[in-house]
Amino acid sequence: MEKLLSDLPAGQALLTQVRDFYGPSFKVEAIDTPGGASYFHIDTGGAGSQALRTAKIQLNLQSKRQRAAAIHELLHLCLPARGYAFIDRITPEAKHCARKEWITDVQSKIQNVVAHDCFLEEFLEAGLPLSEFVSPRLDFPKYEETAKSWRGIKLTPENEWYAQGWWAFEYFNNYISSEHGDLQARQLAENAEKYAIRVLPNFADTAALIRDWVARKKHCSVGTYEEAMRELLQLIFFPTVGFCLLEAAEGRPPNVLRLYAAQQPVLTAEP
Ligand SMILES: [Zn+2]
Repeated sequence: MEKLLSDLPAGQALLTQVRDFYGPSFKVEAIDTPGGASYFHIDTGGAGSQALRTAKIQLNLQSKRQRAAAIHELLHLCLPARGYAFIDRITPEAKHCARKEWITDVQSKIQNVVAHDCFLEEFLEAGLPLSEFVSPRLDFPKYEETAKSWRGIKLTPENEWYAQGWWAFEYFNNYISSEHGDLQARQLAENAEKYAIRVLPNFADTAALIRDWVARKKHCSVGTYEEAMRELLQLIFFPTVGFCLLEAAEGRPPNVLRLYAAQQPVLTAEP
């Protein structure tokens, strides 16, 4: 990674920050998967552990934006190092249990895309172009088909939260990404709103609340991030979550501070 960032002082500074904070828990791994996407993973080590297990970056050798990807993933790891909390516990109710897959998928996607909004400026200031901020989109959701699949399904207290949450998340994810160099996102956000209204006649109100949330930028300050995330999760009808923080531990992996009462976890997943 040093070699990749050798002509980018801002990148080297980020790498130093990440190394200093995560100590021996920081790992970089090369991957070689089609599509060229790179990733980061934070493994808190489960409910009982007090020290972070790993903070890992997987850099894709097939990427056409390797340097940008390295900076992007380093910025993801920088947020917890700067005091941003992240979700490591989900407490679903009975009605949520049929949608575990969606819940864990959204848990990681929503934190990812909100983080992008928090560090985009820093990425650009490091000297990298907006066109390399995210890897090219590989999946194109078919909202018209999804709206058709809801036709004739009666909304009940058991499934309505999911219909609301599914469309709200899709709208949010595309709407916020349209500022992040994702060229298809604006059109997809418009489509999501158009077809959501066929399933949920009041969806225009939800879409307006989501646009407000994005415009307020409360998520971009460390002091209001957790509160902003809780507001957003409510807008997408997400189950109750617990956040944790990382605390530097000189030369050792950071400590994990859980911001919720200990209880039996029902659903946990890594961000
Ligand atoms: Zn990302």
